[in-house]
Amino acid sequence: MKEQKSFVDNSKGCLFLVPTPIGNLNDMTYRAVQTLQDVDLVAAEDTRNTKNLLNHFEITTDLISFHEHNTASRIPELIEKLNSGVNIAQVSDAGTPSISDPGKELVKAAIKEDISVVPLPGATASTTALIASGIEPQPFYFYGFLPRKGKERTEALVDLANRKETTIIYESPYRVQKTLDDLADKFGSDRQITLARELTKLHEAFLRGSLVDVISYYQDNEPKGEYVLVIAGKPTEQTETMSDEQIIQAVDRLIEAGNKPNKAIKEIAAQNDLKKQTVYNLYHNIEGND
Ligand code: SAM
Repeated sequence: MKEQKSFVDNSKGCLFLVPTPIGNLNDMTYRAVQTLQDVDLVAAEDTRNTKNLLNHFEITTDLISFHEHNTASRIPELIEKLNSGVNIAQVSDAGTPSISDPGKELVKAAIKEDISVVPLPGATASTTALIASGIEPQPFYFYGFLPRKGKERTEALVDLANRKETTIIYESPYRVQKTLDDLADKFGSDRQITLARELTKLHEAFLRGSLVDVISYYQDNEPKGEYVLVIAGKPTEQTETMSDEQIIQAVDRLIEAGNKPNKAIKEIAAQNDLKKQTVYNLYHNIEGND
């Protein structure tokens, strides 16, 4: 085992990982501009987008496309260039490469070849949303995009619902409402959430409240723009064993808040790791095995 130093004077090129703004161009760092200017080649998720960024900063470096559909074929080509001394910067469309964006396979391939990988700090939507969320910032769990459907989605939601850390999810405006419904179903409708929208842009906005609050807000307001969802971790009280009476009271509270009895029972069962039938029997004072 040996340390891999970032700055070594050898014949190989360096792979620089360069974050780009998530909206506001002023979030480009001096070092990012300098690096994109100094390297021999910029590997970009979308060369047209990155060309606009480079033009804005008067950077004239050549571009090559590197995105999720050409990862496999492009990596050997980029590694060959790096091995022969070409310095390459990798960028995605917005934010930090490899964070819900292309990059990770190239990083792994470069490490394998003993090529220096130099990360630059910079813009990312996740922690930008987290620090203004008003929700406990640490510990946090960054998930990225949820699977769109099926068992994978359900399993991910159940796993996240039971985490004590704050969770960060990326979501498109077209799926925000569906995701909020699914979150309320698995996390409980009183879990706190902050929706951070259009970060660093003109219409930047935060919506803070319980899941039931934000769901009702989006019944009257269409979601617009890019979203980060920051969700509070599972409260410690919920993980402690509740007495039968406390369970009945918790179901009552959800019913009083407007939930149907079956939904309330399902939710309290999920929150307490109990079978739905157990809570149903308890609530309806039914004796029996479940
Ligand atoms: N690599 C990026 C990063 O470091 O944050 C993330 C890229 S991912 C393909 C795009 C998602 O990031 C969006 O769907 C949204 O969830 C989030 N996102 C990106 N820019 C955002 C912004 N300005 N405001 C809110 N969310 C944003």
